[in-house]
Amino acid sequence: MPDFFTFTHFKRSPSLLHAVTTKSNDLPYAFSLALHTGEDAENIIANRNRLSDLLQSSEALHYIVADQTHSDNIKLITQKETKGWESLSDAIEACDALITDVKGVVLTILTADCVPILLYDRKREVVAAVHAGWKGTKACIAYKTVQKMREIYGCDPKDIVAGVAPSIGRCCYEVGEEVAEHFFDIPKGFSPVGEKYMLDLPLINKQQLLDARLQEENIEMSRVCTACNVERFFSYRKEQGCTGRFMSMIGMKNGDN
Ligand SMILES: [Zn+2]
Repeated sequence: MPDFFTFTHFKRSPSLLHAVTTKSNDLPYAFSLALHTGEDAENIIANRNRLSDLLQSSEALHYIVADQTHSDNIKLITQKETKGWESLSDAIEACDALITDVKGVVLTILTADCVPILLYDRKREVVAAVHAGWKGTKACIAYKTVQKMREIYGCDPKDIVAGVAPSIGRCCYEVGEEVAEHFFDIPKGFSPVGEKYMLDLPLINKQQLLDARLQEENIEMSRVCTACNVERFFSYRKEQGCTGRFMSMIGMKNGDN
C-alpha cells in the first residue's frame, strides 16, 4: 500500500489537494507512474487509477500530465480536462510547468531526481507544478512560472506557498564543470570537490523562488534526497538509469458541488 510524502504548509488549506507518491514494491514497477519509459501501459494506468482512488476525492478529478522535455515552456490549463493520463498521445506537448485556476484539475510532474516544485496562491486560488532538472533550473523555470502567475492571474508572490519535493540533493549530485558553470553566480548552490562539483538544485530553485519575491517562510523544502532514500523514491542516478518515476501533484477541490 503506497503512502505519500506531503507538505505541512499545503495541508493547512482544506480546499487544496496535493501528494508526492512513493515506491511500493507490492505494485507493478514499484508503483511507477510514468507512461513514457517503456513499461506496459496497462499496468501503469492501473497504478494511476490506484493513485486516484488513494486521493479519496469525493469528486471526479481531471489529471494533467505533460510531455516533460527539460524546457522552460509553461502551459496554462484553462478548462476542466484530462490530458496524458491514459495515454501519452494527448499529454501536454513539450512542457515543464503547468498552471491553473480551474478547480477539480490536478497538475502532475513525474521525476526520479529532478526537482518537482508545487505552488499555491491562497488568495487568487491558483496552483502550479514545475519540473526543474539542471537544464530547467538553468532556464529559471521556477522563477518564470511565478512571473507567469503574476502576469496572467494577478498573483502576489507574498500569497504563494511553495513545496520543493524530494529530489537529488547536494550530497549525491556530482556534476562536471560543463554543468556547474551555469550556476557559478550562486556560490552557495554548489561545492567544488576535486575537479567536480556537488550541485544543490533544490537550493538554487529556492533562490529562484526568493528572487521571484516569495517569502522564505512560505517555501517548504522537503530536504529529502532521492538518491539517499532510494528505497522510498526513484533515483535515476542511484539506480543507474531507472525507468521508474514518482509523481508530485497539486490541485484545488471543487468545493461547490
Ligand atoms: Zn543524497
